[in-house]
Amino acid sequence: MYQDFQKYLQQTLQQIKDDGLYKNERVIITPQSSGIQVAGENGPVDVINFCANNYLGLADNKELIEAAKARMDVRGYGMASVRFICGTQDTHKMLEKAISDFFGTEDTILYAACFDANGGLFEPLLTAEDAIISDALNHASIIDGVRLCKAVRYRYANGDMADLEEQLKAAQAQRFRIIATDGVFSMDGNVCPLDKIYELAQKYNAMVMVDESHSAGVVGRTGHGVTEQFNLRGKIEVLTGTLGKAFGGSVGGFTTGKKEIIDLLRQRSRPYLFSNSIPPMVAAAALKTFELLTKDNHLQDTLHENTNYFVEKMTAAGFDIKPTQSAICAVMLYDARLSQEFAAALQQEGIYVTGFYYPVVPKGQARIRVQLSAAHTREQLDKGIAAFTKVGKQLGVLK
Ligand SMILES: *Cc1c(COP(=O)(O)O)cnc(C)c1O
Repeated sequence: MYQDFQKYLQQTLQQIKDDGLYKNERVIITPQSSGIQVAGENGPVDVINFCANNYLGLADNKELIEAAKARMDVRGYGMASVRFICGTQDTHKMLEKAISDFFGTEDTILYAACFDANGGLFEPLLTAEDAIISDALNHASIIDGVRLCKAVRYRYANGDMADLEEQLKAAQAQRFRIIATDGVFSMDGNVCPLDKIYELAQKYNAMVMVDESHSAGVVGRTGHGVTEQFNLRGKIEVLTGTLGKAFGGSVGGFTTGKKEIIDLLRQRSRPYLFSNSIPPMVAAAALKTFELLTKDNHLQDTLHENTNYFVEKMTAAGFDIKPTQSAICAVMLYDARLSQEFAAALQQEGIYVTGFYYPVVPKGQARIRVQLSAAHTREQLDKGIAAFTKVGKQLGVLK
């Protein structure tokens, strides 16, 4: 049997390579940070990192590392259990409380990843009598979560409120309705229009779910996410998020919101019931993260300054930048091949970025996605901008 299957796999892999979509992983040999070393053919290469989700620069933070080590000493390495059997420690409960306090929500449930939080969200709550109205550009984990649920599915074009209204009208046929959206869409860096979504939800008797993975810690005056940005703190029924981006960059996910929703998820959500608890050290470092972010706003402020600085300078240099309200800055090149050449040339200049093209973004919308961090120094930003400008001129993008 395997011989035939092997041939099939080899052909499939070759097709991926022929399409130019084969992903090679670059190997980093330092902690994750704004300045890293990658393994090269002739030894380590220093690069400035503009493609991590390390928005607040906490991935190598000393206080988080110390908190993790200290908790490992007193609470051990792993839980060897799911939460409801014997996998709940005091640290998990404290972290859930800290997340609820951060978002102004009633209760929180932890998962091994936000992928699991989204995957296990809809199926326990909704049935075939209900409706999910989903933004067309939602993250893969929301799409999968929706697929696992029997509710009737509606889809609206990205951020298109007229389309959302049409779908909400159609969804009046169902019993309960929930609108599902990313807080920040990862390819453009645009924020969902939550004020208008909320208004429509009120008008058409629907609930709202927001995935705060790219927005929490980033968006809003003090970085408390899209509910802060739109003055809707405590008003949205369900938020999901990750501990793998702004909040320390390790692993873990959460769903936070109305207490009955969280309570039912604890009883019925499959990735929660059938998957291991996050390690105490990870929970402790995450707890430290929320302590730091509640104490003062300097990381969020630095991130906002860095993003504004980068966007301003890149625009002045003549680049076509997608309007962004997050720490994601899409440098538009439109042509797929150019995006790959551009990224490769930047790597030669010691700038680490990723070029995206169809099918990750629409045809003819190829780009380089830059992700800013509070960890970037002004010097690193200037080096990045200078390299972009140099390569832009070389490749005829800039005059
Ligand atoms: C990154 C991301 C996830 C997945 O988070 P993990 O904790 O890494 O599984 C889910 N949703 C969105 C919108 C994301 O950007």
